[in-house]
Amino acid sequence: MTGIMKGKRGLIMGVANNHSIAWGISKALAGQGAELCFTYQGEALGKRVKPLAGELGSDFLLPCDVEDIASVDAVIGAIKERWGKLDFIVHAIGFSDKNELKGLYADTSRDNFTRTMVISCFSFTEIARRAADLMNEGGTMLTLTYGGSVRVMPNYNVMGVAKAALEASVRYLASDYGPRGIRVNAISAGPIRTLAGAGISDARAMLSWQQKNSPLRRTVTIDDVGNSALYLLSDLSSGVTGEIHYVDAGYNITSMPALETLSK
Ligand code: NAD
Repeated sequence: MTGIMKGKRGLIMGVANNHSIAWGISKALAGQGAELCFTYQGEALGKRVKPLAGELGSDFLLPCDVEDIASVDAVIGAIKERWGKLDFIVHAIGFSDKNELKGLYADTSRDNFTRTMVISCFSFTEIARRAADLMNEGGTMLTLTYGGSVRVMPNYNVMGVAKAALEASVRYLASDYGPRGIRVNAISAGPIRTLAGAGISDARAMLSWQQKNSPLRRTVTIDDVGNSALYLLSDLSSGVTGEIHYVDAGYNITSMPALETLSK
């Protein structure tokens, strides 16, 4: 296999099925020669992820629930034993109780606030710290965020707050690890139909609004995100760190709905 990722080995966290953003990223990376290790959350998802990993030539799969730090340590330990190093990680993990992804943000419970922050934000920091120890020759880290971090999106609620903290973490981690040649970035993806996306109330309306009002007049695909991830995880972006890169068909630059939407 030839390509710009040839000789690079990386950890992909967050494939649930072939609609997952992490799957779009995996395809782009493997297509350019990267060797991948996948984690899966629980055996039921493992059964779906195993054949997908196989499609990309990987038999390196490990269970991991980021709420259980021992399972994160086990993943890092297994990678150290098999590969001895890591070149990149992809963190595409998010969770919040779907009963709180509707109604008022103000009604978020303390338990769900904490759980959402730990899974969707702090897990990136915990994984980054461990992965950095395997990146002696430098490396790249990527996480996934959404524009509900900087602007209010109906029903996104506590996830928006967790994504804001995640984006701040990207900047702090980029500063921490920059002197070691490790770059840390995020992709802020537009809405895509996935398992996690379906947990947000009225997700369909969000997709349709974006499709009608983004400059490109469409939503984005997991392949759009995969291509941008390839840039951020490869040497093509060697001078880029601490960035929140939007892959949202340009929606974030708009300040009012498209004129054709208004005239309807
Ligand atoms: P997805 O459901 O395919 O992926 C979410 C992943 O998170 C799953 O693989 C799930 O197993 C994993 N996960 C959840 N809790 C976990 C835990 N405790 N331990 C380990 N893994 C856990 O959905 P997706 O849309 O591909 O989500 C990937 C990332 O992209 C998330 O961070 C999400 O917030 C972000 N994102 C999604 C959209 C969208 O519209 N779909 C837009 C922007 C950002």
